[in-house]
Amino acid sequence: MIRVRFAPSPTGFPHVGNIRTAMFNWLFARRHGGKFIVRVEDTDQNRLVSGALDSILEALAWLGLQWDEGPNVEGPYGPYFQSQRLRLYVSITDQLIKDEQAYYCYCTPERLTDMRKRQQTLKQPTGYDRHCLNLPTSEKENMYGASKQKVVRFRMPNDRSIILEDLIRGKVSWDSNLLDDFVILKSDGYPTYHLASVVDDHLMEITHVLRAEEWLPSTPKHLMIYQALNWDAPLFGHMPMILGPDKSKLSKRHGATSALEYKEMGYLPDTMINFMALLGWSLDDHTEILTQETLVKEFSLDRVVKSAAIFNKEKLDWMNGLYIRSMNLDDLTVRLEDYWKEFPNQALSIPTGVSRDYLLKVVSLIQERLKLLSEAQELTEFFFLDDINLEIMELLQKGMDVNVTLFALNVTLRELRAIDSFNVQNLEKCLLDLNSQLELSRGQFLGMLRMALTGKKSSPPLFATMEVLGRDRCIRRLESARSSLS
Ligand code: GLU
Repeated sequence: MIRVRFAPSPTGFPHVGNIRTAMFNWLFARRHGGKFIVRVEDTDQNRLVSGALDSILEALAWLGLQWDEGPNVEGPYGPYFQSQRLRLYVSITDQLIKDEQAYYCYCTPERLTDMRKRQQTLKQPTGYDRHCLNLPTSEKENMYGASKQKVVRFRMPNDRSIILEDLIRGKVSWDSNLLDDFVILKSDGYPTYHLASVVDDHLMEITHVLRAEEWLPSTPKHLMIYQALNWDAPLFGHMPMILGPDKSKLSKRHGATSALEYKEMGYLPDTMINFMALLGWSLDDHTEILTQETLVKEFSLDRVVKSAAIFNKEKLDWMNGLYIRSMNLDDLTVRLEDYWKEFPNQALSIPTGVSRDYLLKVVSLIQERLKLLSEAQELTEFFFLDDINLEIMELLQKGMDVNVTLFALNVTLRELRAIDSFNVQNLEKCLLDLNSQLELSRGQFLGMLRMALTGKKSSPPLFATMEVLGRDRCIRRLESARSSLS
């Protein structure tokens, strides 16, 4: 039974890199009928940020990455918060001390700083100098008396070649002499990441640890803890980094980095899943569009690459437009309504009394052009306003003065009143005929009408827009454009 975990520290917002890691774990679990566990690594009490965990879980829920065990989903391996498992870490630390695989260290922060400085001056590798490893008991008591603090350090074996067969990166090896005796239990009684993650991965029977590449340097420490405890280590796979277009680590400088910001900007979860799947993985050398279902069927670690992935925002926008266009109209409309409810600042204020049918027609007109749900407000608000604000100078098209414009408006009004049935075909025929009689270019005439009717230089196709607006509204807007000129 495959068991994988996503182990967020609740110290910040859900970075897309972390969420991509969560998703690869989720896909791997679903692909193999295994379990996906969320474990909260909240042992660094100074760095906890309130609300961070909720945001991380919200991002997972938004993307449909349901976990099988973890916060709010009790399971047989809980608790799933490390802060609730302190006794376990302490008892395992005791065992390591008893087996002389770990020892108390009483060094004060000042001593450690001096030690590091000395090492730097002597151009030696920095690391703990084992001062407390073989100290006689009396001296230990003295030191404790002075510092009133103690931590527990892991005793790193000497002269070992530590070898990892990484599922993604292949063979990686380290020389244990270059690793120091790192802290496993802090003076506040909390474990460090290294100890807690090993203990939990073991006790939670995690089979594959799939995590970001930045944790690779920690892995030899973890392997040594497994060995000291006589536990089998899980398999490890370290995922490639995500970089911005300038090849530096994806950060705020490149734009939004929180998955929830993408939600607010109006990206669809399907897009995010598809896009993030291609950050380090691919099905083949050309397929770009992959549904969640296909991903679950096809995801495999041997197609995860070692090299860093580049976050390409243009591609993300293109993909979102494509997903929006592929939705059926009802679904898109419901999706927009839900989005507006959740983000009122992006919402269209739809006057009461607007029929569903009208809304559907409006949405159908923008579906082709919509890249983000947040753009719908700007693209459609003129469909719902009583009056639109017009700048006279915008109404006057290049080469058309006030008189020519007034004349064109007047004849258009006459035609619109007379048209039988106010639909695209009739409007197109009638207005294009009129255009050819008016000695105006199509750009001038339709540009002027578009401005008068929508208040915008670009809009959905004009005749279809007019049909949806309806005769009365069109006439009212053209009249008001006319009076603004006279
Ligand atoms: N708590 C670590 C993080 O925030 C998890 C590292 C791991 O997956 O082992 O990324």
